[in-house]
Amino acid sequence: MIPFNKPYLSGKETFYIEDAVGSGKISGNGKYTKLCQDYFESKYAFKKCLLTTSCTDALEMCAILANIEKDDEIIIPSYTFVSTALAFVRQGAKIIFADSNSENPNIDVAKIESLITEKTKAIVPVHYAGIACDMEGIMNLATKYNLLVIEDAAQAIDSYFIFKDGTKKALGSIGHLAAFSFHETKNIISGEGGMLAINDAKFIHRAEIIWEKGTNRAEFFRGEINKYGWVDTGSSFLPSEIISAFLWAQLEQLDFIQNRRKELWNLYYKLLKPHENLGFKIVEIPNFATNNAHMFFIVFDSLEKRTKCIEKLKNNSVMAVFHYLSLHKSDYYKDKYSGEELIWSDHYTDRLLRLPMYFELTESDINKIVTLITE
Ligand SMILES: *Cc1c(COP(=O)(O)O)cnc(C)c1O
Repeated sequence: MIPFNKPYLSGKETFYIEDAVGSGKISGNGKYTKLCQDYFESKYAFKKCLLTTSCTDALEMCAILANIEKDDEIIIPSYTFVSTALAFVRQGAKIIFADSNSENPNIDVAKIESLITEKTKAIVPVHYAGIACDMEGIMNLATKYNLLVIEDAAQAIDSYFIFKDGTKKALGSIGHLAAFSFHETKNIISGEGGMLAINDAKFIHRAEIIWEKGTNRAEFFRGEINKYGWVDTGSSFLPSEIISAFLWAQLEQLDFIQNRRKELWNLYYKLLKPHENLGFKIVEIPNFATNNAHMFFIVFDSLEKRTKCIEKLKNNSVMAVFHYLSLHKSDYYKDKYSGEELIWSDHYTDRLLRLPMYFELTESDINKIVTLITE
């Protein structure tokens, strides 16, 4: 059987977990949390990182930091995971769903401006499959209308945006805030896990408080104050050192993991590209983006072809899966939605197929998968 995903283990995870356990410090914000946060800050130039228990939690921290209140409007793509919307819905926000673009499932930046109103507080671009949204266009709109940009970079670790002047910046380092996931289905994992990246320094102080149950405990641990107490809202967003120790073992091999994933991605591309005339399209990486090989997906020209292909693969023990269902049509939101048709979001809902993608996938697995698809 070729599964859709298989979590990669570096082999050092339990070693670092034992070290954390043996040290007697297993709650959060200890040695391994700091190692991971420092690593991300220096490798990707985020101003400040805080590990969280999930990307969903990091997005909830963003909603609190942005002071989202009832009836504030947040612009997000409809073609995304529930968490992107949920974090803001919990604060009472109204979600304004935007369509994807015709080239890939990312938000169509040309459609954002007409969705902005007096009540708009933030734009939340999602870098689908780790492919950058047009961050230059989004940041320009945000400046023009004084909006916050919160990147859902759940799938986007180790991926970059290239500005028109040639500057290259890591995804998650461009918006005011960004959220990453280390869920076992992502490139770099800790089972469940996530991270808040803060690029606008004015959020750093309050983020640490929200992270630590609304207390100023982080400052207390640094010896900056001599007692700590309740100073703001918040929750328990920080992971234990056991999770961070696991993550550290992955970070030591980040480049190694990424290189292998990119090799596999390139092989899929090479073998499938000549067959696009059979009724599917491979999404190209835009010139302003890099590839982090989070996912390999194809877009069929009909739902019927996708269904047949999934069947064919499944009958031959290959697990390929479709992805999101447009959120504006979800059971939870459809009665609240009053916007227009989102044809591209529905297009990807019906036609996109994700192929197996994980470190241990082999060249012969990919050959087998490609043969089945072309058949
Ligand atoms: C995985 C994912 C999330 C949620 O991540 P968790 O760490 O499981 O909370 C949110 N948004 C997107 C786009 C994702 O792919």
